[in-house]
Amino acid sequence: MKKNIPYRINLPEEYIPKKWYNLRAEMKSPVPPLLNPATREPVTLDELSKIFCTELAKQELNTTDAYIDIPQGIIDFYKMCRPSPLIRAYCLEKELGTPAKIYYKFEGNNTSGSHKLNSAIPQAYYAKQQGLKGLTTETGAGQWGTALSMACAYYHIPLTVFMVKGSFMQKPHRKAIMQTFGASVIPSPSDTTNAGRAIIAKLGETSGSLGCAISEAVEVAVSNDGFRYVLGSVLNQVALHQSIIGLEAKAAMELYDEYPDVVIGCAGGGSNLAGLIAPFMGDKIKGTHNPYFIAVEPASCPSLTRGKYGYDFCDTGKVTPLAKMYSLGCEFIPSSNHAGGLRYHGMSPLISKLYDDGLLDEARSIEQTAVFDAAVRFARCEGILPAPESSHAIKIAMDEAVKCRETGEEKTILFGLTGTGYFDMSAYSSFIEKSMGDYIPTEAELQHGFEGMPEM
Ligand SMILES: *Cc1c(COP(=O)(O)O)cnc(C)c1O
Repeated sequence: MKKNIPYRINLPEEYIPKKWYNLRAEMKSPVPPLLNPATREPVTLDELSKIFCTELAKQELNTTDAYIDIPQGIIDFYKMCRPSPLIRAYCLEKELGTPAKIYYKFEGNNTSGSHKLNSAIPQAYYAKQQGLKGLTTETGAGQWGTALSMACAYYHIPLTVFMVKGSFMQKPHRKAIMQTFGASVIPSPSDTTNAGRAIIAKLGETSGSLGCAISEAVEVAVSNDGFRYVLGSVLNQVALHQSIIGLEAKAAMELYDEYPDVVIGCAGGGSNLAGLIAPFMGDKIKGTHNPYFIAVEPASCPSLTRGKYGYDFCDTGKVTPLAKMYSLGCEFIPSSNHAGGLRYHGMSPLISKLYDDGLLDEARSIEQTAVFDAAVRFARCEGILPAPESSHAIKIAMDEAVKCRETGEEKTILFGLTGTGYFDMSAYSSFIEKSMGDYIPTEAELQHGFEGMPEM
């Protein structure tokens, strides 16, 4: 007998996963390793441990253990906001008149407002375990900086955040939250680092980019004893931590004998998408199920749909290891797109590899006015004000559901609702007042970006 599916599936605490799922261990063709830019050899644990906490460096390099234990000290913090709800979008289904069943995993129900807390917690935890003096990081739109500030406050670790200057000016309240949680926040590029000064000398007044801010944060971490750098996306360790999104979503669906036909996530650096799809992708690799995966990115920063798959730096200042990824070139500075969290020149090596192998079936890019149109429709019927980043996934989920209306297919669609948009109200206003524009980089601009990629 079919069970009645509730509007909101809230699993009890004991459903918080006890292990993260390391998809790389299941992959038949391995994710290419990070390289030391000087030697072009795979980075060693020793080298990585100078930038990252040792335990996180180990996770970064672990390609063999499919499951990695989550320490109790992390689970205790996860309990504040997990398991996150899996919501059956009954209202959206009705609005669209679709026979499809739409589910979304809502990661915005914590103070930081996004899924980023899932990785901020372990990264701060391991820093504490290692007895570090402090952490440095970058933040774009501010969600990662906020999440990490919360985690560092909980575990009592000093934190310096380099915040992309454009967002720093646009979102003063983001800065205030980070400061409330005790972080110090510096607009990037700044004159406090060599990397920042070099970027200012080269570009003059600039609104900055994630790539610039990463260079500054890494520089401060490696030049101060007892400090390490942490990153909120892109890396394998972050994808690993985010696997709890997919594990919980799968467990919740299984309770109601559900399994997704289509899984959709927005992709900035690729971490929420990697986490959401992880267990379903594992099934696909093992051949037990065959869900269809779609990554969604902004047309203004189209790394998967128009980027090149090759080794590139993770930052503009070229101080990080080289990662093989779909990239627009580490010197590419995206237009000041409101969906700040998706403004990164590259894509996680794991997502890039899955896409190159055809396991991640499709990537679509969309323009921001279409994204906000979907966001507003969603807010009005589902009662959640979505982050612009998340709304990329909403838009494609709606498109897929509308297709089902036309074909009569009763597909089960799952998408990731990564966060809330309360700090993006000026973007919402500009959409509502019809002053929002769309920006699509020209071929020449992309070509210029590709020229900045290192020769291999
Ligand atoms: C940062 C962010 C993203 C994009 O990051 P990924 O690493 O691609 O997941 C998406 N949604 C929200 C709400 C974010 O804060």
